[in-house]
Amino acid sequence: MTDAQKERYSRQILFPEIGEAGQERLLSAHVAIVGCGALGSFQAGALARAGTGILTIIDRDYVEPSNLQRQWLFDEADAAQSLPKAVAAERCLRKVNSEIQVSGIVNDLTPSNVDELLASADLILDGTDNFETRYLLNDYSVSRGIPWIYGAAVASYGLVMPVLPGRSACLRCVYPDPPGGSQPTCDTAGVLNVITAAVASLQVADALQILCGRSEQLRPHITTIDVWNGSIRRLNQPPRDPECPACGKGNYEFLSGEGRPPISLCGRNAVQIHERTRPVDLRQLADTLSPLGEVRANEFALRFFPAPYELTVFPDGRAIIKGTTDIGVARSLYARYVGS
Ligand SMILES: [Zn+2]
Repeated sequence: MTDAQKERYSRQILFPEIGEAGQERLLSAHVAIVGCGALGSFQAGALARAGTGILTIIDRDYVEPSNLQRQWLFDEADAAQSLPKAVAAERCLRKVNSEIQVSGIVNDLTPSNVDELLASADLILDGTDNFETRYLLNDYSVSRGIPWIYGAAVASYGLVMPVLPGRSACLRCVYPDPPGGSQPTCDTAGVLNVITAAVASLQVADALQILCGRSEQLRPHITTIDVWNGSIRRLNQPPRDPECPACGKGNYEFLSGEGRPPISLCGRNAVQIHERTRPVDLRQLADTLSPLGEVRANEFALRFFPAPYELTVFPDGRAIIKGTTDIGVARSLYARYVGS
């Protein structure tokens, strides 16, 4: 460590559980943050300031005005330009800490790209808003021996659970299958910005213990917190389940789940089409669509507004169709305006 680094990180080096040795480890660590919404943007900001050597931020979405209430890395200009969150996050964090490597990746984590995107990570933080990705993360983490930290928040409450492969229960030991039916989401039940910060803080605290070489002290836990009534409870995780499909039997269904269907986004009245075999020339598509109505395009995304819907197309062929949860309608709009 240089003298400048010792000064920069002096306040956490003074914290004896980190110290110089822990800081050295942190400076050479690689953390992947999957999802850069409220949880992910807080995690990324905290880890960048703490001096995490390499940060990879993966997000498929773009900044909207309704994100600004709780997504700490973004500003009004990002929302006005509909910048991809991964791009806006990278730009912001480069100004926060120019000495670390930050890369924002505009992509949707899927079974086919998870190895390419996460293989070199020492630790994975959950900043997602959906169970499909969490179960994929769990399979990947358990099969590769990379710790990950589950976190979720809605309304005023949230939950944190670290998964330490080989040592603690995994997500499927505790919740064998993703929840069925409709679940409260930030878009239906609302969310306070302080619960997202609290959950992300607990996730980062666990991450720092692991990254600084203190994972032996990290007791496998499930922590629930409600910031409105001030309650916080930390329970011991149940033991590993020998019948667990993932960590017990080594059956990684979510990791091998090729050809999965389009998914509905986090209760927000939108469907995503995972079409990635045909890259789209956004400039050309803008020319095609502009006679039909308003088109906004930059190098990262194209938005088109066939009322009452809103179509956002990305260069890899992926699209988000807002205004419906009907996969058939979404497919039809994609076929009509992008091509099938
Ligand atoms: Zn398990």
